[in-house]
Order: sequence, then C-alpha cells, then structure tokens
Amino acid sequence: MLALSDEIKMRGFKVNPQILKISDSLIDVGNKLQNIDENKKINQVCKTNIEDVKLAVKYFFSENYKIHDIPYLSFYHLRKNTNIPVIKMVDPFELPLFFENHPESLFFGYLIAKLINETKRKVFFTGIVINDIITELSVCSYAHEITHSLLDSLNGAINDYYNSEILSEFNELIVAHLLSDDERILRTYDSYRVHEFNYLINRVKNYKPAFDDIDDVLEDCKYVTSMIRTYNLFSEYYYGSEGTKQYIISRINEIFAGKSTVEELLSEFMDVSEPSQSLTFSKKAFDYFERKN
Ligand SMILES: [Zn+2]
Repeated sequence: MLALSDEIKMRGFKVNPQILKISDSLIDVGNKLQNIDENKKINQVCKTNIEDVKLAVKYFFSENYKIHDIPYLSFYHLRKNTNIPVIKMVDPFELPLFFENHPESLFFGYLIAKLINETKRKVFFTGIVINDIITELSVCSYAHEITHSLLDSLNGAINDYYNSEILSEFNELIVAHLLSDDERILRTYDSYRVHEFNYLINRVKNYKPAFDDIDDVLEDCKYVTSMIRTYNLFSEYYYGSEGTKQYIISRINEIFAGKSTVEELLSEFMDVSEPSQSLTFSKKAFDYFERKN
C-alpha cells in the first residue's frame, strides 16, 4: 500500500487534510443511526461466483458510464530482451483480480496502484484485490475499485483527499440497490457503513498523537467525511426523479471524462465550502436511513 504522502501526490489533491474535530452532536448522530439500524436487523447475503460478479459490474458500468482506459503495468509482458515491465492502456476490467481472505469484512478490497516519476505524477495499476469469500457484496467491492481506477488515473478529478471515497461508495450504493428488489443488499450495505462510521468517529475522537499514526487518523477522517457526503448525495439520487438520477449519472460521466471535479458535483447538492469540521448528514439522508420499506 502507498504512504499517505505518496497517495496525495499521486492523486494530485490540493487540500492539506486536517484532523476532524468530532463533536458530541456527531457522536449522537452515530448512536441514532446505530439504533435505527438495529431495529431493522437485515443482514443476509448469498454466496455467488466470480464470473457472475464480473458480469454484474461490467453490465452496471456499460449501462451507466462511458469508461476510459487506464495505465496497466504488466509483469507478464516484458520489454524485449529485458526484465522491464510494459505499461499499456487497458480497459479497467482487464486488470488482473487477486483474492485475499478477510472473513471480518465481506466488503474488503483495494486497488494496487504505484507512483512513478513524482514530478510528472504518473500513476499505474497492477491489479485489483477483493475478498476470496465471494458473495453478492463482492459486486459492491469490485464496482468500488473499478471506480477508483477511473478516478485515480485522471489528473485533478478530486481536489480534497477527504472526498476521494465518495464516487466509489456512491457506485457501491447504486449497485447494492440494483441487486435486489427488496433492498436486502442495500440495507446490509448501510448496516456495514453505520457500524464503520461509529467505529471511526470514536477512533478519531480518541486520537493520541503520541501513540497513533497520523496517516491512520487522516485516513479515518477521509472515510468519515466521504461517508457523510456519499449518503447526502445518494439520498438525493434515491428520492430524486428519473431526471435527477440521470443528471447525477451524467455529471459523474463528466468527471470520468476529465471535464469536471467531484467537488463541483457535490457543490450542486450540499455546502462544501466549509472545512469538513462542520460535516453532518442532511435531513434527506436521515429520512433515507429511517425509511420503512
Ligand atoms: Zn476506496
């Protein structure tokens, strides 16, 4: 995995992250969401196979997005008479998939990215890793990492490091929503995020500079910020008309095409001018968590 400073350089983030101040009201919000979630008690996913996972994610992207090729560094293709690997542009679905065993989180996954030539900020990818326990949730993880590959290969698609999980999580939510008519998978996903949110805000609140790694706490802040803003955006999509849904997807397509930024999209739906210190869920996002069926 990359060090945080490399990650910030690699993705060209402009904003220097500051540790979030976790207010008591945000802790209350976390507890409230936890209570809502416990009353629903939906946690049920089925096993599937990797071929079906790939098909579902490919179908999702082909129906919604125009995707671009990304730089792949292949150790399987070496330059003639050398052991120097070749970098070639490929469809993100051609990135090799690897598997790791993580029974504690079915959503586990990451993109293997490397940074070369710091001044020109060249990024390339060698593969995608997901959990070797293949379930319906693997569709979410795979869609998440494909989204990262499309954004990380662009210059300046995201300005603020703390916003870098938003579109990956947003696409996870849309695929989770599409996967089952009764929202079984979407609710399982929400439940996982609510637990994660509470865990992370408590960890940030209890941060001890003498003991804890600064990179780790900044990463926690990234997930907290991204999750709040993702749900603020997703509730607009979820309750929005067909036109609103199409509009948000078309704006994401502009970001994938390098014509807009994540912050420009967010600013149409929420206040992102404030530093992330005053973050909270919107009324619509609350309605979404509280929805009955
Ligand atoms: Zn991610």
